[in-house]
Amino acid sequence: MALLSSLFQSGSSKTFAHGIYPVEHKELTADKPVRRLPFAPELIIPLAQHKGAPAVPLVRPGQEVVRGEPIARAEGFVSVPMHAPATGVIRSIEQAPTAEGPKAEALVLRVYEAASQQVLYGAECDPLALAPEAIVRAVQEAGLVGLGGAAFPSHVKLVAPKGRVIETLLVNGCECEPYLTCDHRIMLEQHTTLMRGIHIALHATGARRAIIGVEDNKLDALRHLRAHLPSDGRISAEAVRSKYPQGAEKMLIKALLGREVPVGGLPADIGVAVYNVGTLAQMGELLPKGQGLIERVVTVSGPGVERPGNFLVPIGTPVRFLLDQVGLKETAGEVILGGPMMGMAVASLDVPVTKAVSGVVVLEREDQDLAARHIYPCIKCGDCLRACPVSLNPSLLGELAAARQYQTMAAEHHLDQCFECGCCAYVCPSNIPLTQYFRIAKAINRDIQRRKEH
Ligand code: SF4
Ligand code: SF4
Repeated sequence: MALLSSLFQSGSSKTFAHGIYPVEHKELTADKPVRRLPFAPELIIPLAQHKGAPAVPLVRPGQEVVRGEPIARAEGFVSVPMHAPATGVIRSIEQAPTAEGPKAEALVLRVYEAASQQVLYGAECDPLALAPEAIVRAVQEAGLVGLGGAAFPSHVKLVAPKGRVIETLLVNGCECEPYLTCDHRIMLEQHTTLMRGIHIALHATGARRAIIGVEDNKLDALRHLRAHLPSDGRISAEAVRSKYPQGAEKMLIKALLGREVPVGGLPADIGVAVYNVGTLAQMGELLPKGQGLIERVVTVSGPGVERPGNFLVPIGTPVRFLLDQVGLKETAGEVILGGPMMGMAVASLDVPVTKAVSGVVVLEREDQDLAARHIYPCIKCGDCLRACPVSLNPSLLGELAAARQYQTMAAEHHLDQCFECGCCAYVCPSNIPLTQYFRIAKAINRDIQRRKEH
């Protein structure tokens, strides 16, 4: 008990300004250990499931592949390869539905039911004996991306931009989105691979130290990690306040280091690299085996799910198959990939789980009715200003969006600083879908910019 209260006192004050406290709903799955599910009969593997250039197929329809074998290569430095998530045969390369909406090119893999699905592909190595550049190459070859949802190629962040030095590695164990508990379970169940992954990232970046930031609603995970910290003293674990969006890179840096990333800059500009716990656990798991990323932990939860839990899911598993395994209630409504704050509602259950999908949340139909509430005029209450973690004026931006002044929003009111966290829309008593407005405004501005350049 004494330990518990000291953790609260020492850690819970660490946070950033503004933000919100949404209902967490984590009790549905927080105590559910990660379980492997059966393989779906077919896996859909989009070639563009990471930031950067899409991967290029190395296989053709009709070709047999074994689990773990590379099936698409990276196209350039900011790109990653894909590996076969199961043993089977490539049925086709076709346009398949994606969570983002438009169809995109994907490899469709028919899974051999009778195959053992043991991963035999890969050559063992000691990553800590490699030169930093070789680790960067190995991380790219493993197809690793940010598993917290960003899907940014992990090897890119291991290389400091010219003139910069990475001094501190921040390990993100916040998991601030409601419902999601996959990172919580990873911290509890995979501390060995997590610590190994942190050491590999420290070695590759040359950073002096790593700090694992854990929200204080997961003190069991914090205690567990502290009990398993390596003796070299380079890794520590600290509590941060459970507040949304504490897991956003800039907010975590503010909370743990008290430093600000310059406007328009990157964490590397202040000597910091931020990695999600799941990403580093995979780095620690895959690199010593010379294997690629073929599965990830996904939380399937929400009031519309019969048997919520945390599952080890092969990349490419259709959401429909996943939901069949956990059962849907009659009242099930909208299905969201990711968390309810920053995730994406999907129009089709045929979309696959990609490397970016940390959760599948199923709401109830009545939640949707609430979401579709009547929109009232802004009453200038200022709640959205108090919620915005990057100190924008969402009320003013909302008015400009309604007046279609999209370019003014960007040029004069820092629209580009909005990372669509959803805090402003969450607190707005007038139900103004501010985040949605800002997403549209940014898309239109991007389109205008593209047309100018061509
Ligand atoms: S969605 Fe954008 S404007 Fe709204 S609170 Fe988040 S960062 Fe601020
Ligand atoms: S929270 Fe909504 S009603 Fe209040 S100032 Fe912001 S936009 Fe206006």
